[in-house]
Amino acid sequence: MEKIQMTTPLVEMDGDEMTRILWKIIKEELLLPFIDLKTEYYDLGLEHRNETNDQVTVDSAKATMKYGVAVKCATITPNAARMTEYDLKEMWKSPNGTIRALLDGTVFRAPIVVKGIEPCVRNWKKPITIARHAYGDVYKNTEMRIPGPGKVELVYTAEDGTTTSEVVHTFTGAGVVQGMHNLDNSIESFARSCFEYALDTHQDLWFATKDTISKKYDHRFKDIFAEIYENEYKEKFENAGITYFYTLIDDAVARIMKAEGGFIWACKNYDGDVMSDMVSSAFGSLAMMTSVLVSPHGYYEYEAAHGTVQRHYYRHLKGEETSTNSVATIFAWTGALRKRGELDGNGALCAFADKLETATIHVIESGKMTKDLALITTIEHPVVLNSKDFILAIREELEKSLR
Ligand code: NAP
Ligand code: MG
Repeated sequence: MEKIQMTTPLVEMDGDEMTRILWKIIKEELLLPFIDLKTEYYDLGLEHRNETNDQVTVDSAKATMKYGVAVKCATITPNAARMTEYDLKEMWKSPNGTIRALLDGTVFRAPIVVKGIEPCVRNWKKPITIARHAYGDVYKNTEMRIPGPGKVELVYTAEDGTTTSEVVHTFTGAGVVQGMHNLDNSIESFARSCFEYALDTHQDLWFATKDTISKKYDHRFKDIFAEIYENEYKEKFENAGITYFYTLIDDAVARIMKAEGGFIWACKNYDGDVMSDMVSSAFGSLAMMTSVLVSPHGYYEYEAAHGTVQRHYYRHLKGEETSTNSVATIFAWTGALRKRGELDGNGALCAFADKLETATIHVIESGKMTKDLALITTIEHPVVLNSKDFILAIREELEKSLR
């Protein structure tokens, strides 16, 4: 069989620990035999980030702006323990945070739905994609403990020195106070990323806040979304046959439980933090969650939602067998290859991505899976495969479909 040709390289961001091991096997077994794979390679493994003073992370983000599509392996976010383990010069920041800030992007997380791994919520038939605004609110707050009676005010001093103030509360006893902010720019980017991704994936978009209570703050989010929708996206949505739907956050939560899925749920920062954990655990497994960073300028970075699976890696280093689920990492590659194919008008590449996803799902639905899935599947007598054999089973299935 002739290999599928590529015209534009993907930005490839390698990573750490067990996912780095899977990354290599996926390339060797599922990609290189079938595609004349073109990538611009960046090693975001912690050792190399440390050697380059994290410049490699910045370079990989810049390459993503140049080419438009990246695929990323999970990476270690250093903490105190990693400082010693890797003898780091500095506690380097989370690569995902650095890349997200440079691309000004929003992260969309969606479960990979297969028969035999059933969501806890019976009504959910299709994936629910969560988009989380990743700037501001309680994550960039300023807090104070109030020791006793007194007045707390919010004061805005304009550049020309004029001030505006509001009383937050006149305390008669001890308490707490919190100041939060957000930026029109950031909310606009969030909104555009959401509208773009809804069009791109042909799904309805839901957005919810608490604007009835937060009449200025949350209302600003609602208004920005509404303005951008009316001015830039209404016609495109109508032509695509998809809808934009705004409601209150509590109404959204109630409706989600009764919905069948197949839409994007855009959330403010805190709501997204909380709801994405709820949705992913209700869909069954973190190892079956994909993640894509979408910038309002149309750059895409695909990855798995889980981390580097450190515990499995240490077992692997001791020579023990592992059964680590590679599905989300495989889908990061297929997502990136399909997007590259769409941008380059390369139908063969898109078709290959579809076939690799189908082969992966077929293997699981035929009862062959990694241990994490075997523990939760409704399929009787599942066959538990080790990390490599699971990928080899997918290769076998893929070869059948390519014949
Ligand atoms: P994790 O790597 O997601 O793993 C947590 C646990 O979840 C594992 O020990 C495993 O449970 C299960 N699990 C996750 N992915 C799995 C898979 N593909 N197959 C089978 N089981 C899977 O989270 P962590 O251990 O908290 O973090 C490890 C490192 O990853 C940290 O250094 C963190 O900074 C980094 N991290 C990176 C990203 C990213 O790059 N996007 C995201 C999150 C965390 P069992 O051990 O019970 O089998
Ligand atoms: Mg969380």
